[in-house]
Amino acid sequence: MKETLHREVVIVGSGPAGLTAAIYAARAELHPLVIHGPQPGGQLTITTEVENYPGFAEGIQGPELMQQFEEQAKRFGTEFLVTYVNKVDLSSRPFTVWTEEGHEIKAETLIVASGASAKWLGIPGEAPAPQGLGGLGVSACATCDGFFFKGKPLVVVGGGDTAMEEATFLTRYASRVTVVHRRDQLRASKIMQDKAFKNPKIDFIWNADVREITGTPETGVTGVRLYDNRTGEETDFACEGVFIAIGHKPNTDVFKGWLDMDEVGYIKTAGLSMATNIPGVFACGDAQDSFYRQAVTAAGTGCMAAIDAERYLDSLPVAMAGGEEVTIEGERVSADHESVTMPDGEVVSNRPASESEEASVGGD
Ligand SMILES: Cc1cc2nc3c(=O)[nH]c(=O)nc-3n(C[C@H](O)[C@H](O)[C@H](O)COP(=O)(O)OP(=O)(O)OC[C@H]3O[C@@H](n4cnc5c(N)ncnc54)[C@H](O)[C@@H]3O)c2cc1C
Repeated sequence: MKETLHREVVIVGSGPAGLTAAIYAARAELHPLVIHGPQPGGQLTITTEVENYPGFAEGIQGPELMQQFEEQAKRFGTEFLVTYVNKVDLSSRPFTVWTEEGHEIKAETLIVASGASAKWLGIPGEAPAPQGLGGLGVSACATCDGFFFKGKPLVVVGGGDTAMEEATFLTRYASRVTVVHRRDQLRASKIMQDKAFKNPKIDFIWNADVREITGTPETGVTGVRLYDNRTGEETDFACEGVFIAIGHKPNTDVFKGWLDMDEVGYIKTAGLSMATNIPGVFACGDAQDSFYRQAVTAAGTGCMAAIDAERYLDSLPVAMAGGEEVTIEGERVSADHESVTMPDGEVVSNRPASESEEASVGGD
């Protein structure tokens, strides 16, 4: 066991959300500690060109962008640990976080920025380049990469809502979008199915497993090898890009049982802030966002989580789900701001001591 560390702000994850939280917390002189986790820099380190992150008019390579984030966080004194969190105890503050390397870390506030991972098929040709064609025509994000496929025929793999959304979005650019699904009907909701079926640029190949993505580093993707799971026949289908749309898995298993999550494992945040169900624990980025899943939204919520942590450490109220606000001392301000429940259970008015006096000086 290594020495116990004690920090005001501990951040789990070093993707855009975690590092933005670190930049804000470090500039607020809170000396944050970031735990890198299994993918230092997060998901953008496995992509090539990022063209939609504001501030880079010519685009920037994903790994280079994340290097910039890290250097900016370091510049203001962020500390890093190259290990991952394998156990937590969030029953009382300071919270305790244990790492795979044997650190025990006490955290006055905890920011969970552990992201999510796209689910992959695990087939030849799918891995990030240079091992496969990832970044050279294989993607898991239509919003991020659709723009690169203007006028090209594409394949989308999957049969759920994600696949229908990706296919529909990709018809803005592609000459044709073919959805390949391993069953004979979709899992997607009716409204999403109807939209895809009505779209003249989308067609479907049913009962087919994608066995391989073909192409070379020079040509990029040239097709997919399909296996008909009723007849056993294998065929090649030509396309210039493949979007794997079989869902994402948030990296939140270690927080199960402590933090409220949806059925997939996305952490529930308050909506009015990045607070979780435990006061002093905040979540940001893809770990709590099943919808936008972009670097800029992750960074935005990372900023919000850091500001929430700063407020909390300054004894200021932070909004919880439902609108109630909680302070580090355990005071609970009602959602209508009319009353405060003190830590001993006493309920007091939240109105100014003398409303008339307040009014006579013009309030705030
Ligand atoms: C191939 C690809 C291309 C993309 N292209 C774009 C694009 O062009 N533009 C765009 O805006 N978005 C793009 N995205 C999406 C974008 O990368 C994500 O929305 C963004 O990275 C989410 O940031 P995050 O910080 O929430 O999580 P992540 O980037 O997923 O980072 C999570 C961090 O948590 C750490 N972690 C996980 N578990 C633990 C643990 N137990 N202990 C400690 N740390 C842990 C990981 O090591 C990692 O550092 C792309 C995604 C992919 C996969």
